[in-house]
Amino acid sequence: MTYFVCMRFVDEAIITVRGGDGGSGCISFRRERCIPHGGPDGGDGGCGGSVYLAADGNLNTLFDFRHRHLFEAQRGDNGSGRKRTGRSGDDLLVPVPLGTTVCNYDTDECIGDITEPHQRLLVARGGRCGMGNVHFKSATNRVPRRCTPGEPGDERRLALELKLLADAGLVGLPNAGKSTLISALSAARSSIANYPFTTLVPVLGVVKINPWKFFVMADLPGLTAGSAQGAGLGTRFLRHVQRTRLLLHLVDVAGSEIQTAADGVVTVEKELAQGSSGLINYPRWIVCTKADLLSPDEGDRRYRELLKRLNWNGPAFIISAVSGQGVEALKQSVMAYLAGEDEHN
Ligand code: GDP
Ligand code: MG
Repeated sequence: MTYFVCMRFVDEAIITVRGGDGGSGCISFRRERCIPHGGPDGGDGGCGGSVYLAADGNLNTLFDFRHRHLFEAQRGDNGSGRKRTGRSGDDLLVPVPLGTTVCNYDTDECIGDITEPHQRLLVARGGRCGMGNVHFKSATNRVPRRCTPGEPGDERRLALELKLLADAGLVGLPNAGKSTLISALSAARSSIANYPFTTLVPVLGVVKINPWKFFVMADLPGLTAGSAQGAGLGTRFLRHVQRTRLLLHLVDVAGSEIQTAADGVVTVEKELAQGSSGLINYPRWIVCTKADLLSPDEGDRRYRELLKRLNWNGPAFIISAVSGQGVEALKQSVMAYLAGEDEHN
């Protein structure tokens, strides 16, 4: 079986950026007692500020852009008499997460990628300043009544796109309940059916703990015997699992005898070991699913029995995505594990 694994979740936003207008030049003449015909002294305008996108390592979504769409830098002030130049407008720095791709929304032209910490990308240049009438003095025109206006700043609509990679992956035999769990945990809607291979393309879900804390979970296609040799795996696959730090191995403990479930786990483990995916090196947790189909006692018995047969002493859970039993605890444990890893690195 061949499948292309694209463990990506795309976050998008469309914003408008506008550089500040340049300030206009000024027409003014020097007027002082005892100095008749003092000559032109209108100063230049100030330059408009520019808009930059600035990499911010503390951000990891484009969520902030949902409520704010227009980003305008300050305009330059107009020039004034006594050759005073107008104040230049301040530049505007718009923080965006690392990994943001920036394109012109109207022309599809790619403007750049934010990849480095502290990187800045100029997205809308401020307008140039206008000249005051001092610049137009000449031998033939000593009373220039002329200045130039400031130029308008650039304005553009930008399409921002952020590509996230999955933090936690779900593996298990077809029908183990992967799609159902990811739907229960996040807003992702994976196809759910009582039929093997319903998920051929992994679906990513963002599991939110609160608006600022979340992790990305990937529902991987059902692994079946032989799939590791599929041409879709290999380096391409590796690239996509690079950020995955934890695999949840889902096991249906209600649908069949406990020995069959244990054999299933071994099959999937073998699958993980094959090929160059490197998945076998990830930490794995056993998650027994469909607990709602069993009485609490029976569920507990099967859970213990399974772990015993597998000789498993790593983390294990029993949940039901349908009744919600154990789901919250699993979610919190995954978040705590990932956060702990972050601190470690
Ligand atoms: P996947 O192949 O691993 O993605 O499995 P699915 O999520 O598509 O689930 C397969 C079948 O099991 C579907 O009919 C689901 O409705 C059912 N199912 C999944 N989780 C549960 C659960 O916690 N309780 C019950 N009763 N059924 C479940
Ligand atoms: Mg599925």
